[in-house]
Amino acid sequence: MKTAAAILVKTAEPLELWDIEIPKLGPGQVLVEVIFSGACRTQVMEAMGMKGEDKWLPHCLGHEGVGSVVETGPDVSRVRPGDRVVMSWLKAGGYEAGGAKYTHKGATVNAGAITTFQKMAVCSENRLSPLPKGVPADHAIMLGCALPTGYGCVVNTGRAKAGESVAVFGAGGIGQSAIMTSVAMGLTPVIAIDLSEEKLVMAKAFGAHMSINPAKEDVMTALKSATGGRGVDLAVEATGQPGVMRMALDCVRAQGGRAVIAGNAKAGEELTISPGLLNQGKSLLGTWGGDRARSTFLRS
Ligand SMILES: [Zn+2]
Repeated sequence: MKTAAAILVKTAEPLELWDIEIPKLGPGQVLVEVIFSGACRTQVMEAMGMKGEDKWLPHCLGHEGVGSVVETGPDVSRVRPGDRVVMSWLKAGGYEAGGAKYTHKGATVNAGAITTFQKMAVCSENRLSPLPKGVPADHAIMLGCALPTGYGCVVNTGRAKAGESVAVFGAGGIGQSAIMTSVAMGLTPVIAIDLSEEKLVMAKAFGAHMSINPAKEDVMTALKSATGGRGVDLAVEATGQPGVMRMALDCVRAQGGRAVIAGNAKAGEELTISPGLLNQGKSLLGTWGGDRARSTFLRS
């Protein structure tokens, strides 16, 4: 059986639509019909060659989506044919089957343990979870990457508490998820920062108390005045730009301020910071997709 898939053949070139041959399912593998797919920025970066040399070409793409289980391989116990599932790069319980290998005109096409830019995908059981009841399938795509990451940056990595202030740099999928989480947790003020007015309007609709457009005003000055000169308690960075990462650490308060970096920088870029900021008791924190936030939204 074959399936249509958008394949990355060469980085920085348009994806090619290929009919690839689906392999016989091995242990822990699940064939899923993809209903909706997200397009995460890390995947766009990969396609554009911004993540460095790609040794897996040609390969499938996509790491968040919603689908319907068609068939299960040996040793799969968590999902059954007909189940609606959320597809996520974040691991749940179950079998780790690794990446799938398809073929096209006799040559191998590589894929990760989950891919979604295709009609049918062979996925590892542990990247699938039943679609939560009451969540529309097209909304549930967000559960595969952006929502757990943005939520986890605030709750798990950033350890925010009600009443604390937060600045969110970059109001894309992760940033908006961090904003919604912060509002729901009672953080105040919740401050959205983005160059796009459209995204800032959306952030306000999600409950952000204040927005800053760096093209129109100085971010550090605006954040200082919003926090009585102290700096914010928490900053979440979701732009992938080292200069913004540095600003995230700069803008948090001394003695306890946390800057959580979620954005992916281009391969080869470096982050320079003043070590004195760390001596002030500020923390620079990395996150692995929100650090175990997946289980908050999806059954494992
Ligand atoms: Zn993603």
